[in-house]
Amino acid sequence: MARNSPLAERLDQIRQRIASACAKAKRQESEVTLIAVTKTAAPEQIREILQLGVGDLGESRVQVLTQRAAQVNEFFVRQKSHGNESLASKLRWHLIGHLQRNKVKAVLPLVQLIHSVDSLRLAEELDAQAGRIQRRMPVLLQLNASEEKSKFGVAVGAAVHLAEQIDSMPNLQIMGLMTMAPLDSTPDEARAVFARTREIFEELKWHKIGGNSLRHLSMGMSGDFEPAILEGATMVRIGTALFGGEVHDSEDGA
Ligand SMILES: *Cc1c(COP(=O)(O)O)cnc(C)c1O
Repeated sequence: MARNSPLAERLDQIRQRIASACAKAKRQESEVTLIAVTKTAAPEQIREILQLGVGDLGESRVQVLTQRAAQVNEFFVRQKSHGNESLASKLRWHLIGHLQRNKVKAVLPLVQLIHSVDSLRLAEELDAQAGRIQRRMPVLLQLNASEEKSKFGVAVGAAVHLAEQIDSMPNLQIMGLMTMAPLDSTPDEARAVFARTREIFEELKWHKIGGNSLRHLSMGMSGDFEPAILEGATMVRIGTALFGGEVHDSEDGA
């Protein structure tokens, strides 16, 4: 894969911006994982990003993730057996979008982390299905830190209690929080949402919820990953800044 392809150049720029934000926040670059959000990516772009060393892939739609995972995983295994040196060392799928309970069973075996747990009923279904496949499933609690503006995510006032309930489930491992700033927010407004999320994260820690596993803040997208890193993000979810703006869904009709 050519080093100077448009995707490689955009990836370089994003990595530089992540590095600058880390320097500004006096944090190590290794503390921040870039998740490439494949929502707008064409299949060949997904293959290329893996070959550029990015192995964390995020998808918001369960059906698309299910359809793509098989092909992408097969490609990854094949490249690995060819000893491709720039290939990501691991491939991990992150479910970042809203999850309905009737889709839990299908998606669970395919993903390494679910960022979007936001209700007790969903957590209970995840716990039950994870138990069936004898897996302890890592999850993040999605926080609606901007309150009225977002449809999804648990309300700030209910977050600690729900986190406690998830922490008591034998087949779930709560790893931290995920949040989204409202789409129309300025960098300062986004930063306030991320700061609020960090406060709730500190509160969970204070209650010893999740133990040592509680270490992730998934926050920041193409338009606001720098303020997110300044507020402690450990995972940034970047789609359009990498892949461009058009949703590629014709292949699967989603
Ligand atoms: C689409 C999406 C992203 C990526 O958004 P961009 O602005 O394209 O970077 C991140 N997180 C979630 C939950 C998403 O749905």
